[in-house]
Amino acid sequence: MSYDNNNIFARILRGEIPCDKVYEDAHLLAFRDIHPLAKVHVLLIPKGAYVSLEDFSARASEAEIVAFHRAIPKITAELGIALSGYRAIANTGTDSHQEVPHYHLHLLGGQRLGPLLSMSA
Ligand code: 5GP
Repeated sequence: MSYDNNNIFARILRGEIPCDKVYEDAHLLAFRDIHPLAKVHVLLIPKGAYVSLEDFSARASEAEIVAFHRAIPKITAELGIALSGYRAIANTGTDSHQEVPHYHLHLLGGQRLGPLLSMSA
């Protein structure tokens, strides 16, 4: 799948659309989801043009991958969910119902989240 430069997160990265930023560095941006599904719901995205977790894991540089993961405890501490716990979800491709074709990691917390998946298909 080729990268769409006009996807909504590419536009947020270019500053064309506002976001509620919680963290930013040279490699990544974290901001609150516009339709939160938990008391805390933040999206962590790389600044590079990667369609999905699959694409990021295959093509991103080691510096980008390390920066992405090292940022997580900084962000969860900032959000106050590091100790209480949280769920990280990366919808990837059609079966996952990924809607935005720019890799993003959902960080959900601030409450008890229940089982990972609904039992109904
Ligand atoms: P996906 O289904 O692709 O894993 O999740 C995409 C997420 O992006 C959804 O949770 C949706 O609410 C969020 N989202 C879509 N458009 C925007 C936007 O313009 N701003 C923000 N902050 N979140 C968005």
